[in-house]
Formats: sequence, C-alpha cells, structure tokens
Amino acid sequence: AVRVRGLEKRFGANQVLHGVDLDVDEGQVVVIMGPSGSGKTTLLRSLNFLEIPDGGSIEVAGIRVETGGRVQGKQERLAIRNIRRRTAMVFQAFNLFAHMTAIANVMEGLVSVKHMPRNQAKKRAMDLLEQVGLAHKADEYPVRLSGGQKQRVAIARGLAMEPQVILFDEPTSALDPELRDEVLSIMRSLANEGMTMLVVTHEVRFAREAADRIVFMEDGRIQHDTTPEQFFSQQDNERISRFLGRIA
Ligand code: ATP
Repeated sequence: AVRVRGLEKRFGANQVLHGVDLDVDEGQVVVIMGPSGSGKTTLLRSLNFLEIPDGGSIEVAGIRVETGGRVQGKQERLAIRNIRRRTAMVFQAFNLFAHMTAIANVMEGLVSVKHMPRNQAKKRAMDLLEQVGLAHKADEYPVRLSGGQKQRVAIARGLAMEPQVILFDEPTSALDPELRDEVLSIMRSLANEGMTMLVVTHEVRFAREAADRIVFMEDGRIQHDTTPEQFFSQQDNERISRFLGRIA
C-alpha cells in the first residue's frame, strides 16, 4: 500500500506539488489524469524518490520516509533504497539497456540486486518473458523490438523485482495506436491478478475498465478522487469535461 501526506515539490521557484495526499490500498489500481504540467509525473517520480520531495511523507509497503528537500542520514538512505526495491517503474520511453538482449534486461536486477545465480535468474526471466508473450524474443536486442514489445520487456523487468507497487508513467503514449493494446492487455492482467498499480495515462478505456479510482490533478493538487463511473459522468464539472474533451 501507498500513503502520501502533504507532499510538496518545487523546481526552483516553480511549486509543482502543493501538499498532495494520496492513499492506495493493496491491490488497487489508481489512474492519475490531469492536464499537461499538473504534476502527475512529478508525483509518480517522487514516490520512488527519483525526485526528492521538499516536504511531506511517503510510505510504501510499510516503509515511511519524512521528506525534506534532501536525503539526510544513513537510515533515510536505507529506507529510500528499500522503497525503491519494492516499487517498479515503467516509463513512457521504455528505458531498456540497449546493449543487452531482452532476457538480459529482465535478468539484470535479479543478478545484480537480488544476487540470484545466473542460471536461476535466466529461468525466472524466461518465465516472465513468457508471461508478457515474448519468450520467442528473449535473445533480441531492443533495437529489433517494436515499441510495444520493448514496453512489455520493461514490464517483465519490473515484475522480476517482485514489486509491491508498479508505477506506470504514460506507458503507451509513445506507441502507435495498434501497439497500445498489447501493453494495455498486460496491464489489465496484472490488475486482475491483484497488483497494486498507479498509472498516469490518457487511455480512457483502460481507466474506465481497469481503475478502481481516478485521481484528477490540476496545478499540483488532487482536485478529484473518484470512481471511474463518477469521473467519466461528471459532465457538469467544467474542468473535468474540458480535460476529457481534449484527450478524447
Ligand atoms: P505531462 O502530462 O505533460 O507529462 P505532468 O502532469 O506529468 O505533465 P510534470 O511532468 O510533473 O507534469 O511537470 C510539472 C511541472 O514541473 C511542469 O511545470 C514542469 O515544467 C516542471 N518540471 C518537471 N520536471 C522538472 C525538472 N526536472 N526541472 C524543472 N522543472 C520541472
């Protein structure tokens, strides 16, 4: 589970997060939507400390960090490392290691972080590639994979770490429409299997069908936190309907 309280983040004079509170229970799928620049990516990146927040607290899988602009002390560094190990992040731009095959990408964390013996890691990585439908591409380098396939390898790599939470940052927005569904269907199966997921996306159908809640951000604040049914029927809420009109 994830608990965020009073999260603040500034870039120079630009305050990007204004005291964000967010709870995600175990097994929940929360979709984060909102206009460009509203702070969605920054919120996600703060959750595993790719950005160091300026204030507030973050708790992931029972590990809590009070944040204050910079990391202080050994204990805090350790807590952050443990949170990072329990979260996986899937980025818009795939972020695979270009010089490694698909299977080597998936094995990497198992060997270097989990210290799993190579043959065991290879077997586990193969199972994960199988799970995302890419066992037959195990020995291909990323340059020979489609965007959708790269993203599925990235998901397998995240799963290898047995995360308690997966953070998805617009995982399909760099993909051609015909490749999006293969990534979304993997995400749907993860959701059905009870994975805790935070997903920044503009994919309305996925949000409608897979999300337990939609969080709507604007100007660094969570303006609405509702069920998909409520969210997509708020025609009387001008800001939401304007936003939905833009992404439709
Ligand atoms: P989008 O939908 O366009 O991806 P977003 O809601 O994810 O937008 P963020 O990427 O979180 O928004 O950005 C929020 C604000 O923070 C923007 O004004 C952006 O310019 C600023 N920002 C983000 N990252 C940095 C950074 N590393 N340095 C300076 N400013 C940043």
